[in-house]
Amino acid sequence: MEHFKEDNTRTPVPLGGPLSKEESFGKMLRCAQRIVTLSHTLPDGDAIGSSFAAFSYIQDVLGKSCTCIFPNRIAPTLDFMHDGEKYFTWDINEGRCRKEIERADLVLCLDFNVFSRLGADLSSAVLERDCPRVLVDHHVGPDTAPFDLVFSDTSVSSTCELLYWILLRTPDIAGDPHRLPARCRWNLMAGMTTDTNNFSNSTTPSTFRMASDLLECGVDRDGILVCVNQSYRLQRLRLMGHILEDLLHVVHLPCGWDASYFILSAQTLSKFGILKGETEGFVNLPLTVGDIRLSVSAREDRDSGNFRISTRSKSGVSARDLCREHFNGGGHELAAGGTLYMGEENAKKEGGGIFLSSPDEIGPYIEKAILGQFSSEGTEKDESKSC
Ligand code: 5GP
Ligand code: MN
Repeated sequence: MEHFKEDNTRTPVPLGGPLSKEESFGKMLRCAQRIVTLSHTLPDGDAIGSSFAAFSYIQDVLGKSCTCIFPNRIAPTLDFMHDGEKYFTWDINEGRCRKEIERADLVLCLDFNVFSRLGADLSSAVLERDCPRVLVDHHVGPDTAPFDLVFSDTSVSSTCELLYWILLRTPDIAGDPHRLPARCRWNLMAGMTTDTNNFSNSTTPSTFRMASDLLECGVDRDGILVCVNQSYRLQRLRLMGHILEDLLHVVHLPCGWDASYFILSAQTLSKFGILKGETEGFVNLPLTVGDIRLSVSAREDRDSGNFRISTRSKSGVSARDLCREHFNGGGHELAAGGTLYMGEENAKKEGGGIFLSSPDEIGPYIEKAILGQFSSEGTEKDESKSC
């Protein structure tokens, strides 16, 4: 039976490298008095979880001041992830963010690989400051130049997992997860759970090891799952039905497998009363179909008029390459994203990129991109469909 075939190629331990890196990190934290954490635009569970886990470690273990900064507000669906942490968002309170950045003597960057993921203004505000910067991230191809210390590992499930292994090696924690504050453990588990879609992707033995350490400490995983998967509003479920019934397009590729895409206009989102963040996870749904190996979603952003692209794929199909080449983005091999700009002006505002002139062009553009990217691939149909 194919199902019992084992994969021995996975990396068993996520953090190679000398201990001195964690020691340097510890030293930098000890020397700093005001630490700012930064994470990416449209912060997801991993961005938020790693930021607040770092906050809790810095404040509760080291007794230092910490402020978390995000480019934009936390989506209501992820509101459950904060509880008394000090944080500001650039879109609501740029002035306060600037002040915190100006006063910081260490900036800890979490869950992004290039500064452009913060937006132009916030990036400049940080890069203009002459203070040490540390990166903790699991995305491919980090721009390491702006950093004094880099923890970058693409083999880990999430930034939360990477941060867990780093914190474990700091002198205060000394390998004992019981020494981490409870809310730090909870945030690490919650962020990893969302980024792996509850252990369905990017997991390695070390991910389970981390989870089991945290469970042993008493983290309420069931409670996290209720918050993540069972606390949505009815509007979201109704929109999901509409997408599956009316909006989903299937593209048959000459190489034998199918791709799908759907487009959510601002009008549809407001008709269903959808809040920011509530479309999270929809892009995974088409992959439940055996023949569909790539799923693309486009969601209109009411403020900018641009379309946010989310893509998910199955093994052997690179969502990342598609996003890099056609959607002004990038990401992980099987989970990537980007933006299609509406109009040249919008593209220029973000430093240039591919743009379309009207929303009517989105569907044909996506279809052409998928066909262009994957049509020439070999027919692996029989082999890949064996299960
Ligand atoms: P999502 O579809 O959940 O928005 O994004 C999936 C993954 O794609 C994220 O974890 C992130 O790594 C990556 N990603 C999303 N948007 C962008 C983007 O605009 N640029 C790059 N480089 N990566 C992105
Ligand atoms: Mn992540």
